[in-house]
Amino acid sequence: MMPEQLARWIAESEMTIAFTGAGISTESGIPDFRSPGGIWDNAQPVDFSDFVASEESRIEYWRQKSAAHSEYSGAKPNVGHQVLARWEQQGQLAGVITQNIDGLHQAAGSHEVLEIHGTAREVSCLDCGWRDDASSWVTQFQETGVPPRCTECSGPLKHATISFGQNLDADVLRKCATWAGSCDLFVAMGSSLVVHPAAGLPEIAKQYGARLVIINRDATPYDKLADLVIPGSLGESLQAADDCLQGLGEGGDE
Ligand code: NAD
Ligand code: ZN
Repeated sequence: MMPEQLARWIAESEMTIAFTGAGISTESGIPDFRSPGGIWDNAQPVDFSDFVASEESRIEYWRQKSAAHSEYSGAKPNVGHQVLARWEQQGQLAGVITQNIDGLHQAAGSHEVLEIHGTAREVSCLDCGWRDDASSWVTQFQETGVPPRCTECSGPLKHATISFGQNLDADVLRKCATWAGSCDLFVAMGSSLVVHPAAGLPEIAKQYGARLVIINRDATPYDKLADLVIPGSLGESLQAADDCLQGLGEGGDE
C-alpha cells in the first residue's frame, strides 16, 4: 500500500532525491549509530583539534579507524542500495545525499552521490589535500603502529571523513541544499534525522514545495511534516516500491 504510493509519486516526479542515513547500511551488517555493540560504542571518538594537535591522538584515531575499517571494507551493498542505483540508471532518481561514510551507494552503482560526512574508503592529507585509497594505509598502521604521513608533503593523513569538531565541506553542503530546494520528491530513509545540518534538508525540500516521504524503522522528529511515512525495514520497503514502479512501467499508457 504505502510503497505503492511512493512508486506512483516517483513515476510522476520530475526530480526525486534520496537522502540516506546509517539505517540503509544495517542490512549490509554495518551497525547504525544507536545499535548496542556498534563501532560507536567502543571508544570516545577523537576530536579533530586533538588529531591536529598531538601524535598521541593520531595514534588513538588510527587505532579506532583501523578497527572500523574491516567492518566497512568487507560490507556489500544490500537491496536498498541496489534499488536506488537502478532508479538512477532508469532516470527515476536524480541523486543520493548520504550521511554514510561506507561508500556502499557507489559500490551498488550510484554515480550522483553527495557524501555529507565524507568517505572512509579514502584517506586525505590535511596539508595538501592529496588523496588515496585507505586500505594500504590501514594495513601500514596495523603493521607499524605509526600514524601514516603524506607521500607528497609528509603532512598527516586522515580518513576523508568529517571528524567531530571538523567543518563540513561548504561546496557539498551547498549542492545538498540546491538539490533539496529544487526536487519535487524528497525521500529520507534510514536516518533518525537528528544530526544537523543534514537533518535540515527535509525541511528545505518541504519549504520549496517538494513532497516528503520518510522511510524509517523508528519515528523521527519530521514525521509530522511528511506526506507519507513508511515504517519498517528499508530493504523490504524499497524492494516493494521498486516492484510497483517496474509494474507501472510495464502497464504504462504508451
Ligand atoms: P542513526 O543511527 O542516528 O539513525 C539510523 C536510523 O535508521 C534509526 O532511526 C533506525 O530506526 C533506522 N534503521 C536502522 N536500520 C533500519 C532498517 N533496516 N530499516 C529501516 N530503518 C532502519 O543514523 P544517522 O541519522 O545516519 O546518523 C548517524 C551518523 O553516524 C551519521 O551522520 C553517519 O555519518 C554516521 N554513521 C555512518 C554509518 C555508515 O556509514 N554506514 C554507520 C553509523 C553511523
Ligand atoms: Zn600532503
